[in-house]
Amino acid sequence: MLLEKRFRELLDAAPDAIMQVDAEGRIILLNRVAEDMFGYSRDELMGRPVEALIPQELHARHVEHRAHYRQQPMTRTMGSGLALEAIRKDGSRFPVEISLSPSESAEGFRVTAIIRDTTERRTAEERLRKVQEDYTQRLAEANAELEMTNRELERANRLKSEFLASMSHELRTPLHTIIGFSELLAEKLEGPLNEKQMRFVQHIHKDALHLLELINDVLDISKIEADRLELRPEAFDFTALIAESLASVRSLADAKSHILETTSNVPTAIEADRLRVKQILVNLLSNAIKFTPEGGRIGLEARVQDSFVVVSVSDTGIGIPAEEHESIFEKFHQVGATTKGVREGTGLGLAITKRLVEQHGGRIWVQSKPQQGSTFLFTLPLESAERKNQGA
Ligand code: ADP
Repeated sequence: MLLEKRFRELLDAAPDAIMQVDAEGRIILLNRVAEDMFGYSRDELMGRPVEALIPQELHARHVEHRAHYRQQPMTRTMGSGLALEAIRKDGSRFPVEISLSPSESAEGFRVTAIIRDTTERRTAEERLRKVQEDYTQRLAEANAELEMTNRELERANRLKSEFLASMSHELRTPLHTIIGFSELLAEKLEGPLNEKQMRFVQHIHKDALHLLELINDVLDISKIEADRLELRPEAFDFTALIAESLASVRSLADAKSHILETTSNVPTAIEADRLRVKQILVNLLSNAIKFTPEGGRIGLEARVQDSFVVVSVSDTGIGIPAEEHESIFEKFHQVGATTKGVREGTGLGLAITKRLVEQHGGRIWVQSKPQQGSTFLFTLPLESAERKNQGA
C-alpha cells in the first residue's frame, strides 16, 4: 500500500503527462498532469480508448499504428519529425511531443506514453521564425537599396570619368596652341620682342605648361579612380630610362643650382609600363627639386634586390614631419607651409605615383625629417605581374 502511494506521488510529481494503455489501447493509468492537460477527470478517462485524446480524423490511422507498435515494440518517440496534435475535452487542440515505451506484465502488453504540451515552444519557435523572416526581408531590402545606390554611384563615376576625359581633351587642344605659339613668339622668328613682351610671353608659356600638367594629373586620377588606368608593360633598359628622366628635369635643377647625382646598378632589362615608370621618376625628381632650397643635392639610386628594382630619390631639402609620411600620398594633401614660396602643385602627384607603383606590384614609402632632406623609396617587380600570371 505504501509502495503504491509512493508510486502515485512520483507519477504526479512528473512535469509531463504520463499514461499507460493496455493491449486494446484502453487507458489504465494516468497522472495529474494528464488530467489537467486534457481537461478530463481520472474517472472519465480510465478504461477509455486512448483515441479519445486524438483528433477525430486521425483515429483510424492511430488504431493501425497501435497494432503496428504491438508487432515492433520499442522505446521511441512517436511520429518523430511530425507535428503531433492532441485534443482536449472541450475540443481545443494543442501540439504535443510523445515518447512511448512498451512493457510486458502479468496482465499483458502495455505501453507507457509520456506526453509534453509543446504549445509554448511552438509559439517561441514561431516568434523566432517571424523575427528571422522579418530580418531576412529587411536585409534583402537593404541589399537591394545598396545595390541600387552602387549602380547609381558606378554610373555617376563613369559619367564623371567620361566627362573628365572629354573635357581634358577639349582643354588640352587649345592649351597646346597657347604653348606652341608662345614658344614661337619667344623664338622671335616673327619679329623682335622688347624685354617686357618677352617676360609676358614667358609667363604665358610657363602657366600654360602648369595648367597642362594639372589637367594631365586630374585625368590620371580620374582614370585611376574609375579603375580605367591600364598599364602597357614592355621590356626596357632601366638605366637608359633614368638618364631620360634626369634629362627632363635638368633645366629645373639647373635653375636652382642643384647637383644631380645618380648611381644605377640595374644590369637587366625590366618589364613595366615605360611611360608610367618615367612619370613616377619625374614626379619624385621634380618634388625633390621643388622642395629643396637653392644649391641642394638630388640623388637617384637604383639597385636590384631579390626580384625587385629598388629606387631611391633623395634630396637635401626641407623634409617632411613623421606624422605626414602617410598622408602626403593622399590626393590633394600638401604639407602645411612647405609649398609656400615654391610653385604651387596640384597635390595629386604623389597620389598618382603611389597608385602607379602599386598597380605595377610595388610599394612606395618615405624616410624624412624636417630640415634634414627626404628620401622617397619605391620598388618595382623585375617581371610584370601580367606576364608572370600568363607564365604560371
Ligand atoms: P604637389 O603637387 O603639392 O607636389 P604631391 O602629391 O607631389 O603634390 O606632394 C604632396 C606634398 O608632399 C607636397 O605638397 C609637399 O608638401 C610634400 N612633399 C612631396 N615631396 C616632397 C619632398 N621631396 N620634400 C618635402 N616635401 C615633399
